[in-house]
Amino acid sequence: MGKIGREIVQYDLKQLIELLNKALADEWLAYVQYWNGAKVVVGPMRTVVAGELEEHAGEELEHAGMLVERIIQLGGTPILTPSEWMSKTNCGYEAPTDPFVVPILKQNIKGEQCAIKTYTAIIEKIKGKDPITTHIIYKILADEVEHEEDLEAIMVDIEAAKKFYD
Ligand code: FE
Ligand code: FE
Ligand code: MG
Repeated sequence: MGKIGREIVQYDLKQLIELLNKALADEWLAYVQYWNGAKVVVGPMRTVVAGELEEHAGEELEHAGMLVERIIQLGGTPILTPSEWMSKTNCGYEAPTDPFVVPILKQNIKGEQCAIKTYTAIIEKIKGKDPITTHIIYKILADEVEHEEDLEAIMVDIEAAKKFYD
């Protein structure tokens, strides 16, 4: 990272890198959770749900990339080992052991809600202290808000279909 680029960061670098590595652990786990969910999901609107889960998996992977690039820019080392995903995560991992659409949607909505809270808390800590990281986190946060909304909208449609067929 360039000299002036580093000078504009008014936050303890080590702590900042740790915050970003913890978020990186979440992004890897979200990616894996969505990717597996998209493969195993069964039930009503399966193709729609699988498509959305697959799309979200791709976006979580992009978030991981954004975090890794910023960690490196800050002079840090991104976590490089899957065991660190579980030891550093804020939001955890829920395996899609029940492949029915409803539990899969629910576990991913829960994950998105945790991601929204986690990123909001990071912004609270760093806003006014690191404009570049704040900007990156706002971009990721906007995606997580969209993810929650997308999954909740599918749940609403499934509920509506259930009423129609009852
Ligand atoms: Fe994400
Ligand atoms: Fe997400
Ligand atoms: Mg989507």
